[in-house]
Amino acid sequence: MTTIAFIGLGNMGGPMAANLSRAGFNVRAFDLSRDALDAARSHGCEVAASAVDAAKDADVIISMLPAGQHVRGLFVDGETPLFEVIKKGALVIDSSTIDADTARSVAAVGAEKGIGFIDAPVSGGVGGAQAGTLTFIVGASAEQYEQARPLLEVMGKNIFHAGDHGAGQVAKACNNMLLAILMAGTCEAINMGVKNGLDPAVLSDIMKQSSGGNWALNVYNPYPGVMENAPASKGYQGGFLTDLMIKDLGLAMDISQQSAAPVPMGSAARALFTLHKAEGHGRLDFSSLMTFYQGKKGQ
Ligand code: NAD
Repeated sequence: MTTIAFIGLGNMGGPMAANLSRAGFNVRAFDLSRDALDAARSHGCEVAASAVDAAKDADVIISMLPAGQHVRGLFVDGETPLFEVIKKGALVIDSSTIDADTARSVAAVGAEKGIGFIDAPVSGGVGGAQAGTLTFIVGASAEQYEQARPLLEVMGKNIFHAGDHGAGQVAKACNNMLLAILMAGTCEAINMGVKNGLDPAVLSDIMKQSSGGNWALNVYNPYPGVMENAPASKGYQGGFLTDLMIKDLGLAMDISQQSAAPVPMGSAARALFTLHKAEGHGRLDFSSLMTFYQGKKGQ
């Protein structure tokens, strides 16, 4: 049976590991947090004493960590880098959202040791992780992509091969930059309508069916009460944190700088979300940018 080491059992990694275990894989889980390990155990995962113990005989190693320095630290630079213990021929699937340069450089170190390392960041949030409906955006060779696909299909619904190493992270940054721009524009338009006497639900319906229609309007309306299940109707709790959106916009700005690709809209969105965070809203869902337009101050 395929043994999978799963490292990083947070909001996303925890339910992803649980879905693999539920599908019958032998999942050896590790996280620095004791609570995360207890939750993984209750979902049928075997709990390892260290990342090294989890990874050493595993066929596949999946990581779901906060940022590039954690990924590099785990596989390349740490006290016992996992690339020193992972068996030759094993495949590492890194689903963290990190910078493309780190993804490429870690893959290159792995390749020297005969270990595959691919970037496979996700879209779909905690709900998608729990439901097993994530979108995976993969940067890998064609062979590595085919090797990873059956596992990714257990945790996700849409699996894309964006290109070679790093391409998954670039595509993810493009998507999230666009999402930030769309959300900011949607907040801006709804606020202007409401200030001019329009009902936010009626205006949203009009724009949904018109040329301004977009994902934020369709499934994630930022105005409270318009969409029952959206974070806006739950005090902007849950969902995708403003802090995480700012992190992703930072990754997009790095890519823009390195490639001289102009991103004036992305830069404006980053400035807006950063101002919103400065008001104390980093831990609220990113659609809470609505309150920035409404002129509401942080508590
Ligand atoms: P999280 O903070 O909930 O989880 C990260 C986990 O990694 C924590 O449990 C932490 O203890 C663990 N960790 C950190 N360093 C470790 C190490 N060296 N060894 C073992 N465990 C370690 O974060 P999350 O929300 O699960 O996000 C994970 C990644 O997924 C991030 O890169 C994020 O940008 C991306 N992402 C998140 C969402 C979302 O909606 N939360 C959506 C898409 C992508």
